[in-house]
Amino acid sequence: MYNNYTKDIFQKDIKYCKGVGLRYADILSKKNIFTIYDLITFFPRDYEDRTKILKISEAIKNEYKNSVVFVEVIDISNFTFQFKKKPLVIVSDGATICEVPIYGGRLPAGISLREKLYLTGKFVRGTRGKIQCRMIEFEKPSSNSLSYGKIVPIYPLTEGLSQKKLRTLIINELITFEKNMKYDIPLIIKKKYRLKSFVDSIMEMHFPKSFEALNEARESLVFEEFLSFQYIHLSERRPNILIKEKRYNSCNALEKVKSSLGFKLTADQNKTIEEIKEDLFSEKQMFRLLQGDVGAGKTIVAFLTALIPCESGFQTAFLAPTEILALQHFYTFKRIVRNASLEDIIKVDILTSSVNQNERNYLLKRLREGRCNILVGTHSILYDEVVFKNLSYAIVDEQHRFGVSQRNKLLSKGNNVDYLLMTATPIPQSLALTLFGELDLSVIKSMPAGRKGVLTKYKELYERDHCYRFLRSRILKGEQGYIVFPLIENTDSNFITLTSEFERAKKDYFYDMEIEIIHGKMKDIEKEYIMNRFNNGEIKILFSTTVIEVGIDNPNATTILIEGAERFGLSQLHQLRGRVGRGEKLGYCYLIIHSELNDIIKERINIICETTDGFKIAEKDLELRGSGEFLGERQSGIPDFKIGNIVKDGEIMRKAKDEMRELLKSGKEEFLKENEIFILKADYLKKSIIKDE
Ligand code: ADP
Ligand code: MG
Repeated sequence: MYNNYTKDIFQKDIKYCKGVGLRYADILSKKNIFTIYDLITFFPRDYEDRTKILKISEAIKNEYKNSVVFVEVIDISNFTFQFKKKPLVIVSDGATICEVPIYGGRLPAGISLREKLYLTGKFVRGTRGKIQCRMIEFEKPSSNSLSYGKIVPIYPLTEGLSQKKLRTLIINELITFEKNMKYDIPLIIKKKYRLKSFVDSIMEMHFPKSFEALNEARESLVFEEFLSFQYIHLSERRPNILIKEKRYNSCNALEKVKSSLGFKLTADQNKTIEEIKEDLFSEKQMFRLLQGDVGAGKTIVAFLTALIPCESGFQTAFLAPTEILALQHFYTFKRIVRNASLEDIIKVDILTSSVNQNERNYLLKRLREGRCNILVGTHSILYDEVVFKNLSYAIVDEQHRFGVSQRNKLLSKGNNVDYLLMTATPIPQSLALTLFGELDLSVIKSMPAGRKGVLTKYKELYERDHCYRFLRSRILKGEQGYIVFPLIENTDSNFITLTSEFERAKKDYFYDMEIEIIHGKMKDIEKEYIMNRFNNGEIKILFSTTVIEVGIDNPNATTILIEGAERFGLSQLHQLRGRVGRGEKLGYCYLIIHSELNDIIKERINIICETTDGFKIAEKDLELRGSGEFLGERQSGIPDFKIGNIVKDGEIMRKAKDEMRELLKSGKEEFLKENEIFILKADYLKKSIIKDE
């Protein structure tokens, strides 16, 4: 049904394309262009409206923008620049004369006396009153112009590749593409949403007739791309929703613990608990994502709901990404259970890699016999030797650190295990949808009452002293703090690192107080010891790497200094900042910038200073860095979209998901048969999905 071109496009090596060859194939590979399909979907990063041809006298008014003029070369002479002679081309549009200095030093082929040219560049009045053009390109009159008289694409470049060359390569290929490509967007969708055809859209993306047409083309392609993504996602990752038997009878323990907490849950916390409760008592296996900004109080929600299975004789597993966090949860749960005098019914245990063999054996036995109700732990819980008597509920904290196969491993340890994921990385709604499309979502938006918030400021390197002295003053008031570093140590001695600064700061600022280092390379038992002493107030300041990023909860810590803040992601900074201002005292966060402060850094850092809403920050972060990086390298399931933007095009993603779900439900076989190339394309997209583990 399809011709060879249509199929080959995804496989055919770019080096066989006209004008490419080995040299350019190599250069293009730096931009991840390996096949024809990659080349034609290498979309412009921007467009320039060069539909109007101006007079030089008009062009000079557009100082900051490129303009196109039509001129004749009337003289070619020289000028001196940095002691070197360079060509100076003099042109005229009949009314005005203009100089075109060639800083590159060599007169470009195609420029000669009496030649008529369309010249694109910025026009300025030079020092001696003469008009000068900073030329970026020129072209002889042509009925198929590439650089003037139309909306011109601006591609992202790399060394050895010019706009002109790339444009030519792409247009060459597009001519063949337009004639031979037979693939189109699945018809039913194309009709329903009045999308442009695949081929027309691609053509339009590179050489748009108008900005409206460009927009339409883009939306059509985004829809198509997201549809592919949802196809992969839904046909592979969708967990089977299982029907479970009714297994729980009451939630007395939950109510009892709730009333003994010493604080009132927020409305959002209560709402979330109700949502989870309903799921637990329903006949369908729960798959729920619990989202809430840092400090919103997710842990207590999860814990309260974990009491429901316990009370009916079932078991709950509570998985945390780090040992520190697992321990923290363990102690919190123990305390809460004790306060409610429920120690006889609710037995909480912990399993991490530092639990020794004897203890472990004993614990595993208790677990098998059902004498432990809630098992808190790290990855250690996933080992085969960990066997539950009747696991029915699994809670995973900071879920973005775990992969899908780990999830499945955990779920296989019981029957129809209800599943709750928690994340403090505020995932924008659109992204949550793409990632966890099959999950129900609970969101805790409001913060517990009485939080004073965090004052955030950025400081430059020369202001560090002030920051350290400020921290000292807070400690003297009885508070605690953190100093976070991007690196533990570095061979480059000019670099500010955890170990180098610890000694210095101890000597200069904190000579009379207890301070400690904590980082991920330390043994768990050491970390535990330090965290305990920090939590009970013995240690005043933790010098750390991002190990404190996740979930650490010490309400007496008010101040955090983040060294080299420009090296962290925005969401990460927000997480780090969330370590302070968790009690009734105002928090302080100083972002210390090590690099020279430029506009890009300023823009990013200002977002943190001005925004406290983790969701907004996450969206910005995603916008600035792209999805792959936003989620960290271990995140899984998101491909490198060629055109779609999961933040900006969230609405399209939602539609694509609904449509694909329908398609797969109502006639999967037929759809697959009719859309052979769509499937092929989806496979191609799949290859760019970051694999978990
Ligand atoms: P996160 O959502 O970031 O995981 P935690 O669950 O660690 O936040 O909660 C942060 C702190 O707020 C904890 O010390 C917790 O005991 C406290 N907390 C939770 N809910 C409330 C509430 N409703 N009122 C007061 N404090 C609360
Ligand atoms: Mg937490």
